[in-house]
Amino acid sequence: MILGRSAPAGHVAILDSDRERGEMLARRLRSAGHRVSVIEKGRRVVQSVVESTPDLLIGALTFSDPPLGGVIRAVRQALGSELPALVIVSRDGEDTNSLVEADDILKEPVDPGELDLRVGGLLRAQSERRTLNKKVQELLGLYKVSWAFSLAGGPAGLFGHLARQSADLLKAEKGLVLLFDADRQQMVAQAPGFGLTPEQVSLVRYPVEGEARSRWNFRKNGPLVSNKARADSRLLPDLAAALDLHSVVIAPMIRGPQVHGLLIVADGIRRGPFNDDDLGLLLAVAGQATVAVENQRLHEELKRANELLQEYDRLKSEFVAIVAHDFRRPLMAIRGFAELVLEEPDIPTETREEFMRTVISETEHLAVLADDTLLITRIETGEFEFRWREIDLGPFILESVPMGLSDHSVLMDLPSQFPKIVVDPDRLRQVLTNLTMNAVKYSPQGGSITVRCRERGTDHVAIEVIDHGLGIPQDQIGKLFQKFQRVRTEEHLSISGTGLGLYICRLIVEGHGGQIWVESEVGKGSTFGIVLPMDARAAQTARRAAREGSEPPARPAGTPTVAAAEAETVAPATRPSEEPASEAGPAETE
Ligand code: ADP
Repeated sequence: MILGRSAPAGHVAILDSDRERGEMLARRLRSAGHRVSVIEKGRRVVQSVVESTPDLLIGALTFSDPPLGGVIRAVRQALGSELPALVIVSRDGEDTNSLVEADDILKEPVDPGELDLRVGGLLRAQSERRTLNKKVQELLGLYKVSWAFSLAGGPAGLFGHLARQSADLLKAEKGLVLLFDADRQQMVAQAPGFGLTPEQVSLVRYPVEGEARSRWNFRKNGPLVSNKARADSRLLPDLAAALDLHSVVIAPMIRGPQVHGLLIVADGIRRGPFNDDDLGLLLAVAGQATVAVENQRLHEELKRANELLQEYDRLKSEFVAIVAHDFRRPLMAIRGFAELVLEEPDIPTETREEFMRTVISETEHLAVLADDTLLITRIETGEFEFRWREIDLGPFILESVPMGLSDHSVLMDLPSQFPKIVVDPDRLRQVLTNLTMNAVKYSPQGGSITVRCRERGTDHVAIEVIDHGLGIPQDQIGKLFQKFQRVRTEEHLSISGTGLGLYICRLIVEGHGGQIWVESEVGKGSTFGIVLPMDARAAQTARRAAREGSEPPARPAGTPTVAAAEAETVAPATRPSEEPASEAGPAETE
């Protein structure tokens, strides 16, 4: 008889005390397409059955050395799985206890047709149970993968987890996540991988253009299974070599039209080649991985934004504390002198006038402080709009730089001819005043101050304010353009100041698309310089367009923010190179 279409052939173990009948049954089953092992009675019965790993056991109830029921129980325990048993019953008086273990019973004499039918049925049920078990295991694996994604471990935690769980699920040695780096147009392996050394992982990065283009296209062609990876022309040879791949399943992580990354599982452990079932499983994981990676990215972004907010908050508190302190000092002076004038009617007129002049100058100081504070806040928050005007730079510098300053002589070094430039005149005047006043303030021994102006290339101008005063120690130059930074030497601190002037200068100059820098030597003097584009309005428009055009925007359109300012001042602001190229710097040498 031929087996029914859906009845699978299997491996049957036969235990029969009657050797001849055992062989007869075996012949019958072999002719129906099954593989058969006839097990000899004796001490090694259980071991022999376990070693033959059958799909079905047929035992005669007469088999008593050892008793059939005990053998079936012991074999099932050793195999750790269900093993169907068909028991052949001959006559009354046999060990009916053994029947408890039977999944089906056949009576002697065994009818061959009946035997085929029962064996087929039991094998089919066994095969279905195994498929079901496998599916349950796979689902459990998927469940484990999907619920164990945690954002707490950061990106490395997530990539390691994905790599390990995917490899476990497919019973493989290696797992790895690759992500697409849109800026560099590269696929980049994410550490850590599973079953791979950090060196191997670090080797895997390849541009998606060029060589990779002529290979497998995961967006168009979908996932890939290869059981001969080293010789597979669809894979990049470098990739297969770097990871020492033999067999591999690769599932793309797709978001919209874009392949966001790849999930790679390679080299099965003691198992056959990878097949479509493996691919199906990995695709399910890749779908979840795409969401998890995206969540992780958003989580990290949120964390960074949060940290930035906290930093803003800290800076704001610090700012308020320092400003409150700086406001208090002149207020106390004003109050003290006013009280003196009120309470001492007999103060000589000259002294009284001196007190009143101090009151006025402290009031002016307060007004400047209030203006500076407001200006900083407005520029930092992007609320400040520059008012662009065309000016004649030469005359503008002459009328802006404060002259006749105490013991200092101010020299003007300006070319005779100057093109017109577009700037915010009030703000540029503020920068020039500040730099010149600083040059005076920090040259207490007097001396000359030079204001020099030159064209830089065809579209920039440079203005320098040079003094021969205290100078600045090298280790403190780097921070001078940040808020509240003052040079911490006795001589500098004995001169009154807030540490806001240079920060404001920098905000204004950068708002013009320019750069500010300083060169200095202690005891010899300092040169503060600015480089501005000749058309600051056009430079601002170009910057805004570039920001809006880039994806994602670098920072909101508008004037520089604190974040930008803080980030860019880590390095000391030094004289910009006179070579062309710098975005804000000069295009050509003088
Ligand atoms: P302020 O002068 O109000 O303290 P600034 O922001 O203008 O604030 O300057 C910051 C610090 O830089 C000053 O406190 C001073 O120590 C140093 N500084 C500025 N200009 C000069 C200069 N021309 N020579 C030496 N040190 C200077």
